[in-house]
Amino acid sequence: MRPFQIKHLVSGGLITNYFCTSRCRHCLYNCGPHWEKHYINRDVAKENFRIVHSLGCRSLHIGGGEPMLRPDALGEMLEVAALSGISIEYVETNSSWFKDIASAVNMLTMLKRKGLRTLLVSISPFHNEYIPFSKVSGTIKACNEAGIHVFPWINDFVKDLTKFNPNETHSIGAFEKIYGKDYLSSVLKRYWIHMGGRALDTFRPVLDQWPYEQILENNQDGCAFELSDTSHFHVDLFSNYIPGLCSGLSIATHDLGKPLSEKKYPVLNTLFRLGVRGIYDLAYQTFKFRPSRSGYINKCDLCTEIRTFLVEKGTLDLAELSPKRFYRDRR
Ligand code: SF4
Ligand code: SF4
Repeated sequence: MRPFQIKHLVSGGLITNYFCTSRCRHCLYNCGPHWEKHYINRDVAKENFRIVHSLGCRSLHIGGGEPMLRPDALGEMLEVAALSGISIEYVETNSSWFKDIASAVNMLTMLKRKGLRTLLVSISPFHNEYIPFSKVSGTIKACNEAGIHVFPWINDFVKDLTKFNPNETHSIGAFEKIYGKDYLSSVLKRYWIHMGGRALDTFRPVLDQWPYEQILENNQDGCAFELSDTSHFHVDLFSNYIPGLCSGLSIATHDLGKPLSEKKYPVLNTLFRLGVRGIYDLAYQTFKFRPSRSGYINKCDLCTEIRTFLVEKGTLDLAELSPKRFYRDRR
């Protein structure tokens, strides 16, 4: 089988930071206030942009964590992107930083001068557990005043939110009281959520589950397709590339464009060739891993548990299983 190698990049994003004001139940990267307050610096951003550009990708979005928590640093990233020949499609925000229209317009105007054109404004019941909707609507209003295009993600939830006090936050339980017990599962039909990170724990109770033996039986192939998919990749502040949507897996950006060595990337190469069955065998043979749950929603659910187990064992200390915080304090 051909070696695992990322040869060409299609479309992706830059993760400036993993710390966030919120701890959304669906967050693919397990972001939250518990992460160290590290933000990408100019040199790392410049190198990430150079590598991404050299592999054929000319535009990125910026996300986190919450990138707007360091507006000056974000402005610098927008400038570095432009100098590197990378166009920034949009910056994602949860609007937690919003205080009032005047200060928001000031901040957005500063960022517009640096190159901000579009703000993706998150709108969802998960975000509303931490951020009052008045902040979200305030951000949208300020964007309109500052001449920043708004990409609402997603507008369909506005009608759900209008039943609540806009100045308060609301639990998913409060949404279930109004919209019914199946609210959580109904969200999956309205909103794109990738089953990884915190979404696994959130949605496991409302989805079908299978014993690990059946997951292994049904997934005999490697994950070459998922790991090689560069249509929604991310590079981060730690100079890592996250393959596909497989959060918690990392390739050093300077290793992109060449075959990944078996020695440095044993887990990734195993997943690429043999999939979840391969990583299960590796964890069992090395540490006698036994699955802890009676059921798993998919192969990524089992894969995440195995990788968390390998990180907790600690003896392998593999850079490809990072950032380590992803695996700790997941909730
Ligand atoms: S989904 Fe966005 S706002 Fe929510 S915790 Fe993750 S990074 Fe923060
Ligand atoms: S099983 Fe693991 S490597 Fe394969 S797609 Fe899922 S998260 Fe990625």
